[in-house]
Amino acid sequence: MSDTMSEPLRLIDAHCHVNFHAYAKDADEVIRRSLAKGIGVVNVGTQTATSAKAVELANRYDNVWAVIGQHPIHLFEQQAQDEEEIINCRSEKFNPDYYRRLAKSSPKVVGLGECGLDYYHLPENLPRETVVAAQENLFRAHLDLALGLDLAVMIHCRDAHDETVRILEEYTAKGKHIRGDIHCFTGTWAEAERYLKLGLFVSFTGIVTYPQKKADREAGLEPLVSVAARIPLDRLIVETDAPYLSPAPHRGQRNEPANVEFVANAIAAARGLTPEELAQATLENTKRLFKL
Ligand SMILES: [Zn+2]
Repeated sequence: MSDTMSEPLRLIDAHCHVNFHAYAKDADEVIRRSLAKGIGVVNVGTQTATSAKAVELANRYDNVWAVIGQHPIHLFEQQAQDEEEIINCRSEKFNPDYYRRLAKSSPKVVGLGECGLDYYHLPENLPRETVVAAQENLFRAHLDLALGLDLAVMIHCRDAHDETVRILEEYTAKGKHIRGDIHCFTGTWAEAERYLKLGLFVSFTGIVTYPQKKADREAGLEPLVSVAARIPLDRLIVETDAPYLSPAPHRGQRNEPANVEFVANAIAAARGLTPEELAQATLENTKRLFKL
């Protein structure tokens, strides 16, 4: 059954986690608040339970979709520290049949992920090579599944751009075209260019609203919002990654999909576009990415 309270779509938060425990008490309110502003929601799974929850939410509302898969930090048991939050990650053995069945259970499943490589969060009790090899296998399993199901791939990459690009190039070289996006992009323009060359979309979070880190400025790195301003307009995506990474002026609070507007507006200002022009472009891109 679909909820009919939503306004016409103006914008889509292409990556958030209203399926997470942080919204155990008010997930419906949070989704309705977003839909009432004409902002669609793509909830993203990180393991079996959060993937199932994303599908359940998507089935209940128009303009809410699900991406399902296993984040690399759920390969091994570990504690991951993100901003000020400590996440206890339980380990799961990836089961492609589970995700294939879940994907086929609903037309609202529009992608596989978030998947990819994360060399920032490595468990301390295991050899690095073991973890890196397992992450690569897990990433390839998602790419293969997405190709088989004709779904988009939502790629997570932390401190592993070279390896991510190498794997994607292997697929492309074999004529296997990956339809996907790099979620929460925080790299340099040169890194962005490599993903653009592979035909991918590049997606930005509220980090574009934060002042540049002193170390990055001193190293002469271009501010992230300026990198976002250089992405071709037909390849740009916006997202919140809620509950994390609240954009200014809500930094430090629990994030939510309605806040994607602050991300879009910051990039619009950097590009000299009106908020409407930027919203329209990213809305079309997100629809193209997920075949909505
Ligand atoms: Zn995420």
